[in-house]
Amino acid sequence: MIRNSYFMTQCTICGSHFENREGSRTSFLRHQCSRYCYEIANGVKPANGKIDVPCLICGSEMSIDGITNWKYAWMCSKACQNKTGRMFGRKSRIKYTILKGFKILGESSAKDISVWIEQTTPYRCSAGQVAALCNLYARKGFVAKNKTGGTTSYKLTSKLPFEDYV
Ligand SMILES: [Zn+2]
Ligand SMILES: [Zn+2]
Repeated sequence: MIRNSYFMTQCTICGSHFENREGSRTSFLRHQCSRYCYEIANGVKPANGKIDVPCLICGSEMSIDGITNWKYAWMCSKACQNKTGRMFGRKSRIKYTILKGFKILGESSAKDISVWIEQTTPYRCSAGQVAALCNLYARKGFVAKNKTGGTTSYKLTSKLPFEDYV
Protein backbone atom coordinates (compact mmCIF):
# COMPACT_ATOMS: atom_id res chain seq x y z
CA MET A 1 0.00 0.00 0.00
CA ILE A 2 1.28 3.45 -0.87
CA ARG A 3 0.76 5.75 2.07
CA ASN A 4 0.31 9.49 1.74
CA SER A 5 -0.19 9.16 -1.96
CA TYR A 6 -1.83 12.25 -3.31
CA PHE A 7 -4.67 12.06 -5.72
CA MET A 8 -7.79 13.94 -6.56
CA THR A 9 -11.19 12.38 -6.81
CA GLN A 10 -14.24 13.88 -8.43
CA CYS A 11 -17.38 14.25 -6.31
CA THR A 12 -20.30 12.27 -7.75
CA ILE A 13 -22.76 14.99 -6.69
CA CYS A 14 -21.27 18.42 -7.31
CA GLY A 15 -18.47 17.40 -9.64
CA SER A 16 -15.80 19.24 -7.70
CA HIS A 17 -12.41 17.64 -7.26
CA PHE A 18 -11.37 16.82 -3.74
CA GLU A 19 -8.33 15.49 -2.03
CA ASN A 20 -8.54 11.87 -1.13
CA ARG A 21 -5.56 11.21 1.05
CA GLU A 22 -4.70 10.56 4.63
CA GLY A 23 -5.24 13.59 6.79
CA SER A 24 -7.47 15.55 4.46
CA ARG A 25 -10.83 16.22 6.02
CA THR A 26 -12.67 14.56 3.18
CA SER A 27 -10.49 11.49 2.95
CA PHE A 28 -12.92 9.17 4.69
CA LEU A 29 -15.60 9.67 2.07
CA ARG A 30 -14.91 7.72 -1.05
CA HIS A 31 -17.13 9.31 -3.65
CA GLN A 32 -18.29 12.66 -2.31
CA CYS A 33 -16.43 15.83 -1.38
CA SER A 34 -18.26 16.57 1.86
CA ARG A 35 -20.99 15.43 4.21
CA TYR A 36 -23.36 17.69 2.32
CA CYS A 37 -22.81 15.81 -0.94
CA TYR A 38 -22.64 12.47 0.87
CA GLU A 39 -26.11 12.95 2.37
CA ILE A 40 -27.56 14.03 -0.97
CA ALA A 41 -26.03 10.93 -2.57
CA ASN A 42 -27.86 8.96 0.10
CA GLY A 43 -31.23 10.47 -0.61
CA VAL A 44 -31.49 13.64 1.49
CA LYS A 45 -33.21 16.37 -0.53
CA PRO A 46 -31.80 19.88 -0.28
CA ALA A 47 -34.08 22.89 0.16
CA ASN A 48 -32.70 26.33 -0.66
CA GLY A 49 -29.21 24.88 -0.86
CA LYS A 50 -29.39 23.42 2.63
CA ILE A 51 -30.08 20.08 4.21
CA ASP A 52 -31.13 19.16 7.73
CA VAL A 53 -29.06 16.35 9.20
CA PRO A 54 -28.49 15.04 12.71
CA CYS A 55 -25.33 15.54 14.73
CA LEU A 56 -23.67 12.11 14.95
CA ILE A 57 -23.09 12.54 18.67
CA CYS A 58 -26.15 14.19 20.22
CA GLY A 59 -28.63 13.76 17.39
CA SER A 60 -29.75 17.38 17.29
CA GLU A 61 -30.79 18.57 13.86
CA MET A 62 -28.47 20.94 12.11
CA SER A 63 -28.82 22.75 8.86
CA ILE A 64 -25.74 22.52 6.65
CA ASP A 65 -25.07 24.04 3.27
CA GLY A 66 -22.89 23.07 0.35
CA ILE A 67 -20.79 26.23 0.42
CA THR A 68 -19.35 27.03 3.84
CA ASN A 69 -17.27 24.80 6.05
CA TRP A 70 -20.50 23.43 7.49
CA LYS A 71 -20.59 21.11 4.51
CA TYR A 72 -18.00 18.99 6.33
CA ALA A 73 -19.83 18.93 9.65
CA TRP A 74 -20.70 15.62 11.29
CA MET A 75 -21.15 17.24 14.68
CA CYS A 76 -23.15 20.26 15.80
CA SER A 77 -20.66 21.89 18.13
CA LYS A 78 -17.23 21.95 19.71
CA ALA A 79 -18.84 20.37 22.76
CA CYS A 80 -19.85 17.33 20.72
CA GLN A 81 -16.44 17.19 19.05
CA ASN A 82 -14.85 17.13 22.48
CA LYS A 83 -17.14 14.33 23.60
CA THR A 84 -15.68 11.98 20.99
CA GLY A 85 -12.44 12.00 22.96
CA ARG A 86 -13.97 10.64 26.16
CA MET A 87 -17.56 9.44 25.79
CA PHE A 88 -16.60 5.84 24.96
CA GLY A 89 -14.02 5.54 27.74
CA ARG A 90 -10.62 4.11 26.85
CA LYS A 91 -9.56 4.76 23.26
CA SER A 92 -12.73 6.76 22.86
CA ARG A 93 -11.77 8.47 19.62
CA ILE A 94 -10.97 5.17 17.92
CA LYS A 95 -14.31 3.72 19.01
CA TYR A 96 -16.02 6.81 17.66
CA THR A 97 -14.11 6.40 14.39
CA ILE A 98 -15.18 2.75 14.12
CA LEU A 99 -18.85 3.68 14.52
CA LYS A 100 -18.48 6.52 12.04
CA GLY A 101 -16.91 4.02 9.63
CA PHE A 102 -19.94 1.76 9.82
CA LYS A 103 -22.20 4.78 9.43
CA ILE A 104 -20.44 5.89 6.27
CA LEU A 105 -19.47 2.58 4.67
CA GLY A 106 -22.56 0.61 5.68
CA GLU A 107 -22.29 -3.13 6.25
CA SER A 108 -18.61 -4.04 6.43
CA SER A 109 -16.24 -6.64 7.80
CA ALA A 110 -13.99 -5.78 10.74
CA LYS A 111 -11.10 -5.91 8.30
CA ASP A 112 -12.73 -3.38 5.94
CA ILE A 113 -13.16 -0.92 8.80
CA SER A 114 -9.64 -1.50 10.06
CA VAL A 115 -8.20 -0.78 6.61
CA TRP A 116 -10.44 2.27 6.15
CA ILE A 117 -9.27 3.70 9.48
CA GLU A 118 -5.66 3.10 8.57
CA GLN A 119 -6.04 4.70 5.15
CA THR A 120 -8.06 7.73 6.12
CA THR A 121 -7.32 8.70 9.71
CA PRO A 122 -4.29 9.17 11.94
CA TYR A 123 -5.47 6.20 14.01
CA ARG A 124 -4.55 2.54 13.87
CA CYS A 125 -6.98 -0.15 14.84
CA SER A 126 -6.77 -3.90 14.29
CA ALA A 127 -9.63 -5.93 12.84
CA GLY A 128 -9.75 -7.67 16.23
CA GLN A 129 -10.43 -4.39 18.01
CA VAL A 130 -13.19 -3.56 15.53
CA ALA A 131 -14.75 -7.01 16.03
CA ALA A 132 -14.59 -6.65 19.83
CA LEU A 133 -16.46 -3.36 19.73
CA CYS A 134 -19.00 -4.82 17.28
CA ASN A 135 -19.61 -7.78 19.57
CA LEU A 136 -20.17 -5.46 22.50
CA TYR A 137 -22.70 -3.42 20.53
CA ALA A 138 -24.30 -6.55 19.07
CA ARG A 139 -25.09 -7.62 22.65
CA LYS A 140 -26.63 -4.22 23.30
CA GLY A 141 -28.69 -4.54 20.12
CA PHE A 142 -27.07 -1.68 18.21
CA VAL A 143 -25.18 -3.81 15.69
CA ALA A 144 -26.26 -6.80 13.58
CA LYS A 145 -23.84 -9.59 12.69
CA ASN A 146 -24.04 -11.37 9.40
CA LYS A 147 -21.97 -14.47 8.74
CA THR A 148 -21.63 -15.43 5.11
CA GLY A 149 -18.98 -17.83 3.95
CA GLY A 150 -15.94 -17.32 6.11
CA THR A 151 -16.47 -13.63 6.74
CA THR A 152 -18.49 -11.91 9.39
CA SER A 153 -19.82 -8.50 8.50
CA TYR A 154 -21.48 -6.02 10.77
CA LYS A 155 -23.85 -3.12 10.36
CA LEU A 156 -25.40 -0.51 12.59
CA THR A 157 -29.04 -1.23 13.21
CA SER A 158 -29.61 1.70 15.49
CA LYS A 159 -30.48 5.18 14.31
CA LEU A 160 -29.72 6.57 17.75
CA PRO A 161 -27.09 9.26 18.14
CA PHE A 162 -23.76 7.81 19.31
CA GLU A 163 -24.26 9.42 22.70
CA ASP A 164 -26.99 6.89 23.40
CA TYR A 165 -24.68 3.94 22.69
CA VAL A 166 -22.81 4.38 25.94
ZN1 LIG B 1 -19.49 17.50 -3.71
ZN1 LIG C 1 -24.21 17.52 18.81
